[in-house]
Amino acid sequence: MNSKRWTLLAGLLLPLVLQAELRFPRPAAPTKPAAASKPVAATRPVAAASAAKAAPAASLKPCDRFVGKLPNVTRALCESTGLVESRARSVGGIPLYTRDVGPEKAALRVMVIGGIHGDELSSSSVALHWIRLAAEEHVQMPQPVHWRFVPIVNPDGMLGQPPKRTNGKGVDLNRNFPTPDWDKDAPVYWQKRTGKDPRRFPGPKPLSEPETRFLHEQMQSYKPHLIVSIHAPYGVLDFDGPSVPPSRLGRLYLDQVGIFPGSLGNYGGVHKGVPVVTIELPNSLRTPLDGEMRQMWIDLLRWTSAKVSGDAGAMR
Ligand SMILES: [Zn+2]
Repeated sequence: MNSKRWTLLAGLLLPLVLQAELRFPRPAAPTKPAAASKPVAATRPVAAASAAKAAPAASLKPCDRFVGKLPNVTRALCESTGLVESRARSVGGIPLYTRDVGPEKAALRVMVIGGIHGDELSSSSVALHWIRLAAEEHVQMPQPVHWRFVPIVNPDGMLGQPPKRTNGKGVDLNRNFPTPDWDKDAPVYWQKRTGKDPRRFPGPKPLSEPETRFLHEQMQSYKPHLIVSIHAPYGVLDFDGPSVPPSRLGRLYLDQVGIFPGSLGNYGGVHKGVPVVTIELPNSLRTPLDGEMRQMWIDLLRWTSAKVSGDAGAMR
């Protein structure tokens, strides 16, 4: 091929390559999926680039946003979760997605939340894996359960380059819930105990953020009997509220680490009287192996059916 043809060819291909780079910036090394996972769609940049061209950002499907960003989440897994767009949007305008599984009139309602801290990528991945398990693997429960999953509460933080803990306005969403005396306690805790750590800024007032307002509205209307909130990377379980906490889920053991002004566990567990299980996965960037995630799910079902009571115990 002569040099003129090369120039022509390069001229044709370069815009495609650039588009691909824009659409799928190369992930930083630590965000690689776990060893056991399959390659993700980001390995097909040209096809993805043309898809992105056809779909403006506002109308992207959830899996177009998240596949390639979350560890151990293939496109097939993501598609199987059937995420539904709620009317709520993040600060940056990204829809907050939910998925309900199980009979709506079930005696038990359980809300599972992932990714409230955007840089804890594995927490959203585990929530997505659990949606698939809830929807596809039928486990006989003494009381039927209606599950509501909100797997990616903080999409702005999660999709950041690099991902960050706080939301699009720099607020730690897990310090923004309306615990009593928030106005006094949360700012003081932030200033004195964290030394004004920007990663732990509780916001200007409780529920100042669309993401926490959405979760709060969900809690008010759905009235869960149990909230499970997934985090990383401390490798323990924490528990707030009534009932007997689970002693273990998979390889994670109970270690109650304390409470913070404005946290979901403090608000839901202590002040609203609904048990809140906080799961701290051992690694923010890698999920546990698939078998381990399944074991945690089975242990959660077992504990829920033994220790969480139905209608009498709904959120106040
Ligand atoms: Zn966290």
